Amino acid sequence: MTLRRWFAAAVTMLVLAQTAPARADDRIEIFDAHLHYNWEPTPYYPLDKVLALFREHRVTGILATSRPNDGTRALVGARSEGLWVVPFIRPYRVRADIGSWFGDPAIFELVQEEFKRGYYRGIGEFHISGRAAASEWVKKTVDFAVANDLFLHAHADAEAVEILMGHNPKARIIWAHTGFGLEGERLSAILTKYPSVTGELSYRSGIVDGGGKLTAEWRALFTKFPDRFLLGSDTWINERWASYGDIMSGYRAWLEQLPKDVAVKIANGNAKKLFGGS
Ligand SMILES: [Zn+2]
Repeated sequence: MTLRRWFAAAVTMLVLAQTAPARADDRIEIFDAHLHYNWEPTPYYPLDKVLALFREHRVTGILATSRPNDGTRALVGARSEGLWVVPFIRPYRVRADIGSWFGDPAIFELVQEEFKRGYYRGIGEFHISGRAAASEWVKKTVDFAVANDLFLHAHADAEAVEILMGHNPKARIIWAHTGFGLEGERLSAILTKYPSVTGELSYRSGIVDGGGKLTAEWRALFTKFPDRFLLGSDTWINERWASYGDIMSGYRAWLEQLPKDVAVKIANGNAKKLFGGS
C-alpha cells in the first residue's frame, strides 16, 4: 500500500468511526425519586459531574431536592438534555430543621416563598414521625400542597402517614423509604386504604434475600401494586454520591427478576404517570 492509499484508507476509517450510530442503550431508564443535591455551602460533586453520573447510569429523571434549595435551583437551571427534573421544595435551611420544622412558622413561610418560583411539583423530603404530624404547621403544609397541586415527599412512619392523610384526604404522598422495615401486611393495608400514597424504595429492607434474590413477599407486593412504587438513591450524605452507581446496579439486579412491564413501571413509568411525563 502506498503512503497515499494508506492515508486515504485511514481517513475513510476515521469518518466511518465518527458517523457510526451510537450503540443503543438497552438498560431500563431509571427515575430517581429521592435525590438530594445538598449545597452546604458547596455540593460534594460539581453540577457537571452529577449530570454525567446520571447519564452514566441511565438515570433520565429525578425528583430533586436540596438543603438549602440552591442545589435544586441549579439542577433546574442546568436544563440538561435527556434529564427530566421534577423539583420539590425542601423545607429545611440547615440540617437541624429536620427536628423542628413541624412546629416552626418560619418554615411554612419559606415553603410559600420558594413556591413563587413557579416550577415546583412538591414539598419535601421532610421527616415526621407519630403524633408530631398532628401539628398545626404540618396541617397547613398539607393543605397548602393540596391547594397548589403539590405532592408531599414524606419520610414518615405508618402513624404519621395516617395523620397526614387525615389532615387532607386529597393529599398525594411520595412515601420515602416505604416504612423502612414495616411488615408487608401493614404496608399492603396502607397502600390499599390510600390510593394516593406511592412508596419510594431507598433503604427499604426485605426486597431481596442475602443472595440478592427477590423475596416472595416483595414479588407479591410488586405484583399486587405494580403502579405504587418508585426507586430512589437518597443521596443524603456524600457516601451515597460516591456509591451512586452501586445503588442503581442494586436496583437493576432485582428489577431483572420481575416481568419487564412491572420493572419498567417501577423504574420510570410510575414517575411519568405521577408527574406527567417529561
Ligand atoms: Zn432523603
